Amino acid sequence: MAEHTEHVNEQEILQTQRYARQEMLPLYHGKQSLLAQKKIGIIGVGGLGGVCSLLLSNAGVGFLRLADFDAVSLSNLHRQLLFTERDALTSELKIIAASREIEARNRYTTIEAFNLKVDEESFAAFVDGLDVVMDLSDNAESRHKISKLCLEHHCDLISGAVSSYTALLAIFAYSDQSFVEQYGCYQCLTHGDSINTKVGITGPIAASASSLVAHMALEYLLGNKEMFGKVLRYDLQHLKIQHLALQRDSSCPVCSQI
Ligand SMILES: [Zn+2]
Repeated sequence: MAEHTEHVNEQEILQTQRYARQEMLPLYHGKQSLLAQKKIGIIGVGGLGGVCSLLLSNAGVGFLRLADFDAVSLSNLHRQLLFTERDALTSELKIIAASREIEARNRYTTIEAFNLKVDEESFAAFVDGLDVVMDLSDNAESRHKISKLCLEHHCDLISGAVSSYTALLAIFAYSDQSFVEQYGCYQCLTHGDSINTKVGITGPIAASASSLVAHMALEYLLGNKEMFGKVLRYDLQHLKIQHLALQRDSSCPVCSQI
């Protein structure tokens, strides 16, 4: 019994040391146990989702459900920082490689690989028990589909996308009907278009968006609603940052039907 108590105390001390600098921020102070209870679903563990997952685990988020079917390739390595040359040369699955890297840094985060394509059929299983979904996939079609599914399931969504030098990041609190009535949905923001991701991108651009979207997720989990209704769009080629306001489009074919 005494041995067990000592073990628990040692673990508590280690956890306190681990997050000491983070907990100096007022919003984070005393909130590690809250973060440890949080569950996030992340769609895409490539250029955005990989580093984002790592940052969330490092911050003490307790559970990550990761969805990605791709294998690591050499063309990923300049921006997908969790993966090694060996992963690329052996065509390791991104889920496997990402889980390995994340667990090596924080064994207290549970990583769950979601082995189905996230679509209409699998979505209920994907969101089961989650606090929020993060869509960090790499194509517009997927982002529109995921947003619609989150809206239908009243599941909050944090969306991040990069293309060339540009990034677009926003939170959609779909669990709150008043949010939808005021701010609309992803379709209202993009009007069916979205930034094209099948273009050039650098490692620093992907890493910057990964970090910002991870930050947004942590603030969201800790109850900061300052970002609701706002969109961060930035262009790193011209160092131009825009803060857009989300606004519902009354003729939106997606959220006007919900
Ligand atoms: Zn809409």
